Order: sequence, then structure tokens, then C-alpha cells
Amino acid sequence: MYGLYLHIPFCQKICYYCDFFVDKNLDLVQAYVNALCKEIEREMLGYNSKPKLSTIYIGGGTPSLLSPNQMEQIVNALVNNFDLSELEEFSMESNPGSVSLDTLKEYKSFGIDRLSIGVQSFVKRELGFLKRNHSPKKAIKAIEDAHKAGFNNINLDLIFAVPGQTNESWQYSLQTAFNLGTTHLSTYSLIYEEGTPLYKAWKNGKVAKTSDDDDADIYELTINEASNFGFKQYEVSNFAKYELYCKHNLGSWQGSEYFAFGASAHGHLDNKRFWRVKNLSEFISFNNKNKTTIIGEEIISLKGRIEESIFLALRSTGIDILKLNTKFNLDLAKVFEKEIEYYIKNDCVILENNLIKLTSKGYAICDSITLSFVSKIENYLEKNLKSLNLHNIN
Ligand code: SF4
Repeated sequence: MYGLYLHIPFCQKICYYCDFFVDKNLDLVQAYVNALCKEIEREMLGYNSKPKLSTIYIGGGTPSLLSPNQMEQIVNALVNNFDLSELEEFSMESNPGSVSLDTLKEYKSFGIDRLSIGVQSFVKRELGFLKRNHSPKKAIKAIEDAHKAGFNNINLDLIFAVPGQTNESWQYSLQTAFNLGTTHLSTYSLIYEEGTPLYKAWKNGKVAKTSDDDDADIYELTINEASNFGFKQYEVSNFAKYELYCKHNLGSWQGSEYFAFGASAHGHLDNKRFWRVKNLSEFISFNNKNKTTIIGEEIISLKGRIEESIFLALRSTGIDILKLNTKFNLDLAKVFEKEIEYYIKNDCVILENNLIKLTSKGYAICDSITLSFVSKIENYLEKNLKSLNLHNIN
């Protein structure tokens, strides 16, 4: 079973901090959708039978800028080329400024069952700073409409450490999100990516970054508040209620392979990572000429796969010792003996049912813990890779 990612690189307005591959030229949307469907059809010709999908994730950009007809066109291309009989999750990202009850109902009728809404904040001043194209009122309406349209699995994205944000205003955003019946929260500290207007403003002294200490306090507040509302943290930035974890992300963190279509999309198939052209007009013209849009790929070495498995597992659901031992012919309890002992003593890690898992305290210093585990496995593999019996691993 595979995952599948589709990228829709359009937004009505580019946010202050945005570093994603997006374009405001909405005149190209239909040409892009046609090219995307062509890409799917062409690449799937090489398969004798339809690959079975367990998850689909339509991300962006703003996928909810697509009309229901355009979304249906894409879903039809997927239905024609993949086996969706055991699909477990079909997610789509959206923005409060570009959804209505009617369009949400139509998306739902195509089988989309998980809606992710880019709210970022429920505080008008913070939304203004981030240059989002919606108000708190619109965000609340979008969530209410999502419920009315029948979505029971709703993620909200929220950003913390926004300049001017206080603990109280952040708590207000969190509580508003939880009280509106959301089932999943993805929350990130504001990142100052080079090349963004936000980065420039910061470099020119026009914006002051939140200090690391305040950032850590806000993160801790988030963990506590989420737990008060019955949300379980299952990754550094992700919390879910009723165990409605994002299956698509869990799959990629656990090393599952996934198809990827669309400009700039990155995929993982046959132990290879690949990526597609990051240019809209090239993406459209390549597909119209039946030319591949894959512009790069790399084979993931065995060492790379082991290290990545450790890194991703520790940041999310935990290192499953038995599973990874069997998969990679290792003895991880022994390799990580000192780290496990040290971090358990410091209340940052628990070892339960052969799972090395971060505690709330551990999530707060996740980067340094992952670094010590990854450095340890790196050193161990350097010394032992040749002597390990790894030839049967696929
Ligand atoms: S909505 Fe998201 S993808 Fe679009 S400009 Fe804003 S941050 Fe970027």
C-alpha cells in the first residue's frame, strides 16, 4: 500500500513568512489541473495493475482554490489509475478565505474525509502581521461550515511565536480551536526563512524575533493546553483527539513509500526520493509535451534509511525497537543503552513495550535528543555496517 501526495501551488495572496512554492496567477489553475491529470495518466501507464493507496494528501498552496469541477477532475484521474478500495484517509488542505459550505459539501462528496484548515491564529492583529487573507470570523465560519458539510476529522494549523503574541493571546487561539470541535492540531513556531519579506524585515531591524526562552514557554503551554482538552501529542508539532492521527504523515514518518504529483512535489518510491520541476510554466509545458517533470532523484543508502528511520520515529510515535531490529538486523536496545538510561533518568524518554518514546519534557528538547540518538547510530553504523548481515533488506 502506498501514500499519494498532490501539490496545488496557488494562493490568492502570499503570506509574509511564506517559503513554499506558490503562485498568485490564478489564470493558470485550469491549465495546471489539466497538466497534473496528464502527469498522473502518463506515469501510471507503466504499471500493469493499479497500485493500492492507503492515504491521499492534497496540499499546497491552497487546494481549496480549486473549483469542485477541477477537484473532481483530479479525483477521477486518481480513481482511474489507482486502487482506492482500501483507502484509509483522504486529506485536503484549505484556507478560511477560499471555502464555502457548498464547495465543502462537494469536496466531501468526492471522498475527501479529512480537512486541514490554515487558520494560523484567531487574533486579528496576529493575522494582520502574518498578512493572511482572512479574519478570525472567517476562520470560525470555515470550521463551522466544515462540520455542517459532514467533516468529522478537522485539522487546524496554528502558528506561535508571532511578534506581539502574548501567552494569553496564544492561549485564546488554542482554546478557540479546541472549543470549535477540531480533532487535530498542527502547530509551528514562526520561521524566518531566508528570502521571505519577513526575513528581510527582521534583518533590517523592523521585526523582533521571539526569544528562544519565550518560544520554549509557549511550546510548553501548547502541550499542557492540548492535554487539558484531551489531545494527545504524537509528534513534535502534532496533537490529535480520539486517536485521529494524520495517517498520511504517520506513513511518511515511518518510511512508507508514496507517489507525488504536481510542481515541486517530492515523492519516495522504490527506495528512491524524487522531486519535480519547481516552475509552473515548465510543469505545464513538460506535461503537455509528454515529458517527465521529475528533475532529480537520489537512491537512499541503507545507512541513510536506518538513520532516517531513527530520526523520524523518535520525533513522532517512537522507535519501535523490535520492528527496526527485524527490519535492519540490529540490536537497538544495546546500541542506545546509555541514551535510554540517561533520558529515562531525566524524564525525557519512556521505554514501553519495546518503544522508545519522548515524554512531554522530551518533546520540548526534541532536537538535542534526536541529535544524540542519530549521532550514536551514525557512529555505530560507521564502525559496524560491513560486519552486519544486511543483504536481505529491501
Ligand atoms: S496560505 Fe500557506 S502556502 Fe499560501 S501563501 Fe500563505 S503560507 Fe504560503
